[in-house]
Amino acid sequence: MRWSQLLIPTLREAPADAEIASHRLLLRAGLARKLAGGIYTFLPLGLRVLRKIETITREEMNRAGAQELLMPALQPVELWKRGPRYVAAKPVMFRAQGFEEKKEEESELVLGPTHEEVITDLVATNLNSYRHLPKTFYQIQTKFRNEIRPRFGLMRAKEFSMKDAYSFDATDEAATVSYQKMYQAYERIFARIGLKAMVVEADTGVMGGSFSHEFSVPCSVGESEIVFTEDASYAAAIEKAVSLAHPRDNPTQSLSLEKFATPDVVTIEDLTQKHAVAARDQIKTLVYLCDEKLNIFLIRGDHSLNEAKVGALGFNEYRPATAQEIQQALGANPGSLGATGNIKKQIHQIFADETLQNQKGMVTGANEDGFHLKNVDVVRDISVDRFCSLRTVLEGEKSLEGKPLAIQRAIEVGHVFKLGTKYSEALGANFLDAQGKSQLMVMGCYGIGVTRSLQAVIEQNHDDNGILWPTAIAPFPVVITLLDQTLLADAEILQKELSNHGIDSLLDDRDERPGIKFKDADLVGFPIRITVGEKSKKAGGVEMKLRHQKESKILSLTETVAWAADYLKEK
Ligand code: ATP
Ligand code: MG
Repeated sequence: MRWSQLLIPTLREAPADAEIASHRLLLRAGLARKLAGGIYTFLPLGLRVLRKIETITREEMNRAGAQELLMPALQPVELWKRGPRYVAAKPVMFRAQGFEEKKEEESELVLGPTHEEVITDLVATNLNSYRHLPKTFYQIQTKFRNEIRPRFGLMRAKEFSMKDAYSFDATDEAATVSYQKMYQAYERIFARIGLKAMVVEADTGVMGGSFSHEFSVPCSVGESEIVFTEDASYAAAIEKAVSLAHPRDNPTQSLSLEKFATPDVVTIEDLTQKHAVAARDQIKTLVYLCDEKLNIFLIRGDHSLNEAKVGALGFNEYRPATAQEIQQALGANPGSLGATGNIKKQIHQIFADETLQNQKGMVTGANEDGFHLKNVDVVRDISVDRFCSLRTVLEGEKSLEGKPLAIQRAIEVGHVFKLGTKYSEALGANFLDAQGKSQLMVMGCYGIGVTRSLQAVIEQNHDDNGILWPTAIAPFPVVITLLDQTLLADAEILQKELSNHGIDSLLDDRDERPGIKFKDADLVGFPIRITVGEKSKKAGGVEMKLRHQKESKILSLTETVAWAADYLKEK
């Protein structure tokens, strides 16, 4: 392949809206171009990388026993309504409507953001015996999501490529085995494409299900956060992470409740500043509307509520209650709220963070503007329905085993879920067991962001001059930089020889200055550069240089080809 014939529009400067290194390099190296916010065209070099990642992904999926199929992007909304999470998924879906069609709900189509509904329906109507199980299906397909803030190029796009897989098993134990196979396949895929990903326990979110892991690439520009111990004995996504809270002095004796005036208090901080109540001695009362009912969430004043943990309690829809909803239910404004006394008529359930268990001598709002209560004994004064983990882990805390925790930003590149029977139940994926009894299939679902992973590789492998592609997915493993047009024949022989050894190369035959060619070779990031020019010819051959090393050496043409073949074989 020749550079002069391919569309490789390298840029000296990236467009101003490209905020992170990998996004800038994606555009500068001529791998992709933006059509509109969150929508990208892959150019020839970018597409070559994408195809290589897809090939590795396919090989590992097939090796793990999954079978490939291809499902449609257009999906009837009616199917989603039969499924278990239409309400929660709706905001992210694009509606697809023919111009001429009436706006009848029934005739509506959506563009699939993911495919649990479609695959479960397919399996429900085509597999019905324990003899058919286990089965794992996968596809590599374009997904559509109406992301509110598409950004960072391919990292958070509206249209992106995902490898999604779905497992169906007869029993819970068998489903765990299928889950482990995918988990191991994911480890192999990320290792092979050159991404150092960390596995963290994850929240099951809108998917539902019993447990899940995320594959995350630690990176300062990541949009998620992970929490882990140095020895990685514990690692979890921030939505899921738990820790030992900084302790507070818990009085042994319970004193009687006492109301005191706090006209000047709206925040936790105010109560600390003006009434000398430490944040950790306060109870924060947060009111949320969850599936149309008001619920209270209590946490310590020095903690913050982790909304994902609210979702993990099983609510489909939840949001903070408005000041008006709160005023109507509790008769006070945020700042003076509390959960003591008889409030259960207005409030469906009271959830409290584990750190509040058995706590005494605390301060909370009196549900009367301008008043607080002291000496609160949580067991005695608040009818908590359930204690659970509700707070976000804080910097400087320790893991449950007492090891220091680090919190770091990360890019989520893959996610595996053990789903259980949520989807099979809703969509009727049953089978007859060996005794002829009807049972629900136990499911798992697994996703890799293929295009996001591509950009994450760039984010993890670049320097000031450009990308450093891992050889397995480089657009070409070798670039031949031709410095002198009179030596074109030599360059062609070299390219032919490389090809005879199964090595793809790109011949930079452009009529450009050497400086520009070297800069572009570094920018695109080919692992091996072979320079054909007068100087090296006089010295007896061609110049060999690895992208990640400064030194170069002159080798004869035959030596060069043998060396490149050896180098690439080892990789
Ligand atoms: P996120 O938390 O980043 O929004 P998600 O949890 O919604 O992702 P999944 O539904 O688990 O994502 O999708 C599987 C994989 O698809 C993710 O691990 C991620 O790599 C990729 N992915 C998800 N949303 C996008 C997007 N908008 N653009 C590019 N890749 C995405
Ligand atoms: Mg996810």
